[in-house]
Amino acid sequence: MNPFAVVFAAAQFAAEKHAGQTAKNGQPYINHPIEVAFLLADVGGIESPEVIAASLLHDVIEKCGVTRDELANLFGDTIANLVLELTDDKGLPEDERRRHQTAAAANLSPNAKLIRLADKISNLRQLLTVSDSASREPLKRYADWTSELLPKLAGVSPSLEALLSETLVAVREKTKIG
Ligand code: ZN
Repeated sequence: MNPFAVVFAAAQFAAEKHAGQTAKNGQPYINHPIEVAFLLADVGGIESPEVIAASLLHDVIEKCGVTRDELANLFGDTIANLVLELTDDKGLPEDERRRHQTAAAANLSPNAKLIRLADKISNLRQLLTVSDSASREPLKRYADWTSELLPKLAGVSPSLEALLSETLVAVREKTKIG
C-alpha cells in the first residue's frame, strides 16, 4: 500500500472508532493519537508508515474494543501486533495496570517503546492543560509513574526521551505551585 494510504486509513479508522469519546481535558479523543503520531514524526523523526499508522491506532483495542484480528485483516500483522503490545489489560484495576505496564516496558519492541514515549508526552501535556486543583494529585501520581517508566523506554529516541523529561519537569513545576 502507498505509505500515505496506510497512514490515512489508520487515521480514518481511529477517528471512526474514537467518535464521541472525549479526553480528560474535554478535547475529542482522536486529538491524542494524532498528537502521538505527530510527535513521532516531528520530534522522533520517524519515517516508517507502519509505526505512524500503529501510533494512530494505539488505543483502539484498549478503548474501543477493536480486536487484534480486525486490525491484522485491515492493516497487517506488523501494525496489529504493535498495537497489541501497547494495549493494557482492561480487566485490571488502574494501579495494577500501571504496575503491569512498568514491569513490561523494558521488554517492549523498539517501535512499541517509541510509541509509548510519545504517548506519555501527549498524556502529560493533556493533564497539564487541566488546571483545576483536583487534578493536581492525579497529575503528580501520573508523573511519578512516568518517571519510573522512562528509564525502561530508553535507547530508542534521544529526542523523544529528552522531550518526555522536559515535560516531566514542567509537570513537577505545576504540581509544586499552590
Ligand atoms: Zn494513548
